[in-house]
Amino acid sequence: MALKITDQCINCDVCEPECPNEAIYQGIEIYEINPSKCTECVGHFDTPQCKEVCPVDCIPLDLDHPETQEELHIKFVQLTTAKAALVTVVIKAAV
Ligand code: SF4
Ligand code: SF4
Repeated sequence: MALKITDQCINCDVCEPECPNEAIYQGIEIYEINPSKCTECVGHFDTPQCKEVCPVDCIPLDLDHPETQEELHIKFVQLTTAKAALVTVVIKAAV
């Protein structure tokens, strides 16, 4: 299940660099989470890193995107595989 940022967000910028999947971005009014990239930090950390650092505790689970731990792990593998492929392409282009 992805996490989501509520309208209590104070735009402090702390969570965005903590996300290992680059799922957090600045939205029109507040920071937002791309649910297709959020794995609850599965595969990287034991706990959701954005939730750990948020000073106003405004990052609950997104109940609109239910996923099992197995599905989250599969998403983690897909994201890391895609990232590795992109890095390979960039390196080959630079050589
Ligand atoms: S739970 Fe982890 S993967 Fe999901 S948005 Fe937060 S830091 Fe990123
Ligand atoms: S850490 Fe919390 S308050 Fe700060 S930008 Fe992220 S969601 Fe908003």
